[in-house]
Amino acid sequence: MKTTGYATPAGRCEIHVNAPAAGFGSLAAGRKTAVVTDTTIRRLYPRLLAGRDVVALPPGERGKTLATVEALCAKFLKLGLDRSSFVVGIGGGVVCDIAGLAASVFMRGVPFGFVPTTLLAQADAAIGGKNGVNLDRYKNVVGLFNQPRFVLVDLDFLKTLPAREFRCGAAEIIKHASIASPSLFETLEKLPGEWASLKRRDLEAVVLRSIEIKAGIIEADEKEAGERRKLNFGHTLGHALERVGRFRHGEAVSVGMAMAAAISEARGLVSGQEVGRLKRLLGRAGLPVRPPSDPGPIVEAMRKDKKRRGRDVHFVLLSGLGRAEVREIPFRDLEEHVRDLCQHR
Ligand code: ADP
Ligand code: ZN
Repeated sequence: MKTTGYATPAGRCEIHVNAPAAGFGSLAAGRKTAVVTDTTIRRLYPRLLAGRDVVALPPGERGKTLATVEALCAKFLKLGLDRSSFVVGIGGGVVCDIAGLAASVFMRGVPFGFVPTTLLAQADAAIGGKNGVNLDRYKNVVGLFNQPRFVLVDLDFLKTLPAREFRCGAAEIIKHASIASPSLFETLEKLPGEWASLKRRDLEAVVLRSIEIKAGIIEADEKEAGERRKLNFGHTLGHALERVGRFRHGEAVSVGMAMAAAISEARGLVSGQEVGRLKRLLGRAGLPVRPPSDPGPIVEAMRKDKKRRGRDVHFVLLSGLGRAEVREIPFRDLEEHVRDLCQHR
């Protein structure tokens, strides 16, 4: 087990990596605690939840709505929670997002912690205090920054995680390496292809590094005024791909990263060889890298992206494997790049 964490003006978040999930009760510091989870986790891990006040949501992104937050708050009231209580979210990124937001607005805010159960949530989504839900088809447009008191990462959950979800987590870890750590990138290149069969020690090291990278960025820029934007590498195009296609989030981000790397090459920031290394790493982890043949739907979806302000987009480019920079690019230029990549895929 390893403990790390980060501090923001609002306080400290303790992160325990490779620790047993059953420890969440004592981390809630003796407060009356409600557990928010989904029905998959409730079915797979009944013993973890035995004797607890549990609210189990239907799994999936479609439940990430304000209506769910409202229903959760009503449940909290029914369970007798008050301002001195605690909320623990046990699940993937979706559960953490909803639980964090509900805890943050219930009685103007009660403290909360996360026990992430997907690789994506463990290495990325549960870290950093972004809590939000979707509105119509717009992702995370209602939400707030608020940090969990703790994140408890139990790698045993990954034994039941479907392979496709495992790969989605790999995408975000590769993202962290690509924007901030040449050494993690090289470590990942040396791993065997199938991430799901990684040795426990390797997995622990990789997840820990991924968390440390993100924690460092959060400490420098909690509210995404600058440095934190780098974490959106692959996401401008990724979100667009996710909205139009059949991709899971991590898969869409994988294609988005491959495209953003190619755009970086077109702008003379990285070599074709470096782009090739990134694509190989993604491909070996079982992730897609090829842009779609028709740019139309992505360009349309990009137009609706909430992060787009005026005529320019903050776009994350690579300036090496392990180094990123954010540039304001005219939307028209980005559109041009996308059409080009889709044509020459
Ligand atoms: P993400 O972390 O990628 O946002 P979600 O919260 O949408 O993922 O979870 C993806 C799916 O995986 C959901 O159906 C969820 O119920 C399921 N899931 C989460 N953790 C596990 C696990 N440890 N084992 C099996 N299924 C899981
Ligand atoms: Zn992501």
